[in-house]
Amino acid sequence: MSRIDGGGIALLLDLDDCIGCFGCEAACRETYRYPYHEDWMKVVRREPFVVDGELRQYHLVAPVLDKCRVCYEADPDPLCVTGCAAQALKIGPLEEIVPQAAGRHCAIYTA
Ligand code: SF4
Ligand code: SF4
Repeated sequence: MSRIDGGGIALLLDLDDCIGCFGCEAACRETYRYPYHEDWMKVVRREPFVVDGELRQYHLVAPVLDKCRVCYEADPDPLCVTGCAAQALKIGPLEEIVPQAAGRHCAIYTA
């Protein structure tokens, strides 16, 4: 039960920084060369919207977390993270990742 004991890994997407460039999606596919009918990492671009008079635009990523866990165990610096031009993705032990979301708009995926 990794979410309870803190022993799992987490993938963090900083919504404030992500520009929806599809780089992580391409990086994952480039790393593993899986067929085009598979999507281990998917970027979902969203339209801008206004919150309290401020324009925001939050894109999303959809990782297949079972793949990410194995990937991280093989390489703690996967290309999706190191290749993100906005430095919007982080991966690591859950207890190290969660504090990095403080004060930010983030999505955290656990595996
Ligand atoms: S997480 Fe990084 S690489 Fe992926 S879409 Fe956002 S900015 Fe691009
Ligand atoms: S952590 Fe590995 S498997 Fe997961 S999206 Fe990044 S490159 Fe793909």
